[in-house]
Amino acid sequence: MRKIFARYALSPIGWLSNVEIHIDSSGHIAALTPLSQEVPDCSALVLPGMSNLHSHAFQRAMAGLGETRGQADDDFWSWRHTMYRLANSVTPDQLKTIASHLYMEMIEAGYTEVAEFHYLHRLVPDEEVPGFAAAQALIVAAEVAGIRLTLVPVLYERSGFGAKGPLEEQARFALSPEEYLELLSALKPLQSSQMRLGIGFHSLRAVHETSIDLVLAGAAKLGLSGPIHIHIAEQQGEVDQCLEAHRQRPVEWLYNNVDVNERWCLVHATHLSDKEAELIARSGAVAGLCPTTEANLGDGTFDLTRFEALGGHYGVGSDSHITVDPFDELRWLEYSNRLQARKRLIAGRAGEQPCGRQLFQQALAGGRAVTCGTGGLEVGAPADLLLIQNENPLLAGRSADEMLNSLIFAGAKGLISEVLVGGISIAVKGEHPQKSALLPSYTETLRQLIDRHP
Ligand SMILES: [Zn+2]
Repeated sequence: MRKIFARYALSPIGWLSNVEIHIDSSGHIAALTPLSQEVPDCSALVLPGMSNLHSHAFQRAMAGLGETRGQADDDFWSWRHTMYRLANSVTPDQLKTIASHLYMEMIEAGYTEVAEFHYLHRLVPDEEVPGFAAAQALIVAAEVAGIRLTLVPVLYERSGFGAKGPLEEQARFALSPEEYLELLSALKPLQSSQMRLGIGFHSLRAVHETSIDLVLAGAAKLGLSGPIHIHIAEQQGEVDQCLEAHRQRPVEWLYNNVDVNERWCLVHATHLSDKEAELIARSGAVAGLCPTTEANLGDGTFDLTRFEALGGHYGVGSDSHITVDPFDELRWLEYSNRLQARKRLIAGRAGEQPCGRQLFQQALAGGRAVTCGTGGLEVGAPADLLLIQNENPLLAGRSADEMLNSLIFAGAKGLISEVLVGGISIAVKGEHPQKSALLPSYTETLRQLIDRHP
């Protein structure tokens, strides 16, 4: 049994002040006991760990490599060429090393679970179950880092609307629906309290229209009921292509053809009509927002004002991992909307829910719906917690909400004193204990991958 003292702890019903959090031997919160006064060695804040609901782990290796201007206009599609070079070089072992290091960075930054949207399937020639080795590499990486993993193998069949198959540089991503279901079936026995399987479709442009129902029916037959993820409307270009192919926008097409419900995470729901925003909000699906990546790639701005007014659910992901920090994602989500609207304080409601708490709690709720679903800071939930240090000048003289606002808008780096997953301490003073041991092989892996493609 471990006890943690918090000046303020963020529960689903709001802040609890001066509380003792009891963690039992199974790593769950056993009790939340109010204290009559503050104790000296308490944490300033105890927050639930954040869910990272969209990750392509291998892309961490190219953070900063796509920032040199080329001949043509640089946009998402030119960035994709750099990404393909990496995707076509990486081995399962290198993937494991990159993902292990990345997942440790996630823990240090305050993510305690991650949904890995994984389409690097054919890394080993003539594999008995295509994709198994790469998937296993990611599962091992999550175990090494101690992060909860929702592994979302992704169906990728073709290069675009109307195309028969993938381009040569996309060959490693491609599986048939039958191969995809075989991979799910092979991975199913590996599920645990730390790892569960989701179902993924790369995008409407990359899967055949008939494959979605086929795969969902096959997954149901396997008894898999995890979350369903898809890239939906990241680029105006793919909205235009969808309109050309179907005379419908992507979200519109999806809702007209598939039963979209709370299990769905619509990643990059960036370009939405009012009607599409309403469809998502009404269905209970989660909009998977990746503001730092969307900013880096010049994708566009998610209209937070409209979505909040509709009561929509959202969470955040670090996606390409140009940065790895949930507080950064929330700041960029709010700032991109402030810049667009030319006003302040987009999230939250005047006099009720402060901006920072609204962003953080929405991202927690939305994230939990599409990752491991481990609950918030309440009795019976796993103790996945962030402890924020006391006595830091950045937090001095502030209320609980003002401290949370400071973490989001002034930066949380260095302020997380400990991260727990299932009651186990994974990082102390911002440091994952395994990270320095991994550093030589991580830097060597990056050198190999980058040297090969100067
Ligand atoms: Zn993505």
